[in-house]
Amino acid sequence: MSKKTKIERNAILPGEKCDSEWCDIRRSPIHGRGLYASKDIISETYIIEYVGDKIDKTESNERGWAQMDRAKETGEAAVYIFTLDDDWDIDGSVAINAARLINHACAPNCEAYIVDGGIWICAIRDIKEDEELFFNYGFDLECYEEHPCRCGAKKCVGYIAGEDFWDDLKKKLQKKAAKKKKKASKATKK
Ligand SMILES: [Zn+2]
Repeated sequence: MSKKTKIERNAILPGEKCDSEWCDIRRSPIHGRGLYASKDIISETYIIEYVGDKIDKTESNERGWAQMDRAKETGEAAVYIFTLDDDWDIDGSVAINAARLINHACAPNCEAYIVDGGIWICAIRDIKEDEELFFNYGFDLECYEEHPCRCGAKKCVGYIAGEDFWDDLKKKLQKKAAKKKKKASKATKK
């Protein structure tokens, strides 16, 4: 099961295509496949809609945990659910949603916005043709250790987390490092 899921993310699924004139699907050196600018994109361009099943919060919770379990098995950050408003979420784990392939980065060139009841991936700076598209997934710190970030940005915080959580994350990591040091020094004394 776990292996199958991994292969699926890297294979073209039936019915999968990128319905945007601004980008296409390519293999990414960071993770699996990603979306790439197929031409120069000016800042504030709406690049692609993040489409999926509109689900209520109960359904969303159930699907979220199921996706989390699957992600644990495969080691992927594969939760595709977006908050739309207080009542509804969007589950983007469907083949027609090419935007689900956009990778996370700590210094992204896109951001996800809610526009007219839909979620859109929007350029937050000018993007050159052939650049990979990224946005910050905005995860909280609940399971951060399961979502390491390999974006390679200078300011990469090491894990996939929303910027609002970076201060807390850094504190957590410092504490962890200090604990490790203590343990290490104990070990050498023996
Ligand atoms: Zn990063």
